[in-house]
Amino acid sequence: MADQHLSPATVVVAAGRPAHAPGAPVGPGIEMTSTYLAGGDTVYARAGNATWTALEDALGALEGGDALVLASGMAAIAAAFALAPADRPLLVPDAAYNTTLGLADELVAAGRTVVRVDVADTDAVRDAVERHRPGLVWLESPTNPLLDVADIEALADAAHAAGALVVVDNTFATPLRQRPLALGADVVVHSATKYLAGHSDVVMGVVVTTDPDLHARLLAHRTLHGAIAGPFEAWLTLRGLRTLAVRLDRATANAAALADRLRAHPAVERVRYPGTGAVVSIEVAGGADAADVVCAATRLWSHATSLGGVESLLERRRRHANEPTTVPVNLVRLSVGIEDVDDLWADLSTALDTTLDAPGRTD
Ligand SMILES: *Cc1c(COP(=O)(O)O)cnc(C)c1O
Repeated sequence: MADQHLSPATVVVAAGRPAHAPGAPVGPGIEMTSTYLAGGDTVYARAGNATWTALEDALGALEGGDALVLASGMAAIAAAFALAPADRPLLVPDAAYNTTLGLADELVAAGRTVVRVDVADTDAVRDAVERHRPGLVWLESPTNPLLDVADIEALADAAHAAGALVVVDNTFATPLRQRPLALGADVVVHSATKYLAGHSDVVMGVVVTTDPDLHARLLAHRTLHGAIAGPFEAWLTLRGLRTLAVRLDRATANAAALADRLRAHPAVERVRYPGTGAVVSIEVAGGADAADVVCAATRLWSHATSLGGVESLLERRRRHANEPTTVPVNLVRLSVGIEDVDDLWADLSTALDTTLDAPGRTD
């Protein structure tokens, strides 16, 4: 499976399978054990598990590095944050996944210097890198939920010139749309909970790097801190990953079509869509209340947090107290699934229409 000529749509199906041999299963089993008989490579299941290895082989092949799976996206993010040198500042996005920023706030509370910067503004990041000489630059692109896009290659160059490590949260793009390691990043992290697993039935994280030293430190972090994935969850993630290419193609086509239709809807003030991927964020005319009305009114779309599953979800992000205030109060994030696009539009446009009929509305 090290064959470099295979297309990613093939790798996603073919990587992480047992070697071809008569009688071998076509996919890995679920290795349920806490310990291993002495004399082998794996000693204890907090340090290794064959079901993880299968998933790691697949994810590593997709991102172009060596992967480690962890219990959740946040466990992966915490492991990557721990790579930051203690005596230098961290540079993080001024708008990004709320819990990532919460983890950065915890470092601030512990006395570390964290600088927030708009990662879509390349010059602003370059200036901040020169001024603060960070030890680690954290990027998320496209960002959750504003869908801002960072120039990873240019920012990685600037960060490396200052001796900083570059970590990219690639959850929204997936390795089928963006491969940050090839663009110069040192480490990629994912909430595999989202597109990689793809069915809203598992919480899972992954870190990937090409650097053996960083890999060893990330592995040590996982074993020492113990935020490990369950074998069944790892198996479910690999099972879900097999259809990533077709899911993403369908969901992206749906999202692009919905973004166009939403731009023409009178209840929508602004549509954010970076032109690829399956998340669309809209700002609903009439403020937070109107946005809440929309979320409550859909019947096919589920009102729930999270994204990246086959089913369409929507959510007003500022309903969470920890959402950054850089996110407008009337912003509704749409995670577009793989249903029929006309059914999705009929349900969503009907929900938007209800805000136009709302009594007391003056604009
Ligand atoms: C959901 C998400 C996370 C957190 O992942 P969990 O699996 O929920 O721990 C991190 N980054 C982004 C961009 C996310 O959307």
